[in-house]
Amino acid sequence: MGREKKLIIGNWKMNLGVHDASLYLHRLEKLVKVHRNVEIVLAPTMLAVQTLSLQIDRRQFRLAAQNFYHRDFGAYTGEVSAAQLKGVVDYALVGHSERRHIFNEHDKDTRAKVQAAIRNDITPVLCIGETATEHSADETRDVIHDQLAAGLTNVTSEEASDIIVAYEPVWAIGTGINAKPADVTKAVLAIRSQFKHLFGSKVAEEVRILYGGSVNEDNAADYLMLPGIDGLLIGGASLDAHVFSAIIEKAHKNSKKDT
Ligand code: PEP
Repeated sequence: MGREKKLIIGNWKMNLGVHDASLYLHRLEKLVKVHRNVEIVLAPTMLAVQTLSLQIDRRQFRLAAQNFYHRDFGAYTGEVSAAQLKGVVDYALVGHSERRHIFNEHDKDTRAKVQAAIRNDITPVLCIGETATEHSADETRDVIHDQLAAGLTNVTSEEASDIIVAYEPVWAIGTGINAKPADVTKAVLAIRSQFKHLFGSKVAEEVRILYGGSVNEDNAADYLMLPGIDGLLIGGASLDAHVFSAIIEKAHKNSKKDT
């Protein structure tokens, strides 16, 4: 997948059950136009993934898993694997800050999950970002570097160009506090420069990078127009179909190829 489309991912987190997820989908289907320059991805609760996969028109929407276990099969009670999600979802979030900070996922887990997703033909959306303390200590670049280095261990150049990176400062997620566009640009440059170092210039140019953190209808365009930003990862604002579809329209207008 190239960078010609803006990618908008709605992360519903632990909201909307199966019934409400279907109702939401029907509402969104009516609100959202199909734009060839925007790809829309929905990340529902795991329980609704299968149901929505039977209901969505894949020309309009794609699905992402919010999480999965890194082993393919076995005695892992309560877990769902990338192998089981294969063919059902196209994308999967890896290392979301809520996984890292509430569920204590470490770099070794994100590394294993990136590998599991790739092995099962699912595009990983590797989420990285600094905490408020790290931000105040001016450690953003180091944190991004370390999280990327860990997540991308054992990834080949060919695989790397297909990975998506979501830069999400932890302090901006669900708080209503936005990262400054200039700081996001700096982070994006740092991410591309690390990709260049690890995988070469071509991959650094091709990798898709998203911003996430309290994006709403009013500020979405500020991020979408940043050089090097390929889309958005949206939590809270994706739960309102009207707001989410308004953000999608902004992505359409801000996409390079206005088709
Ligand atoms: C997220 O869940 O990745 C996120 C960015 O949430 P919010 O948009 O609510 O800050």
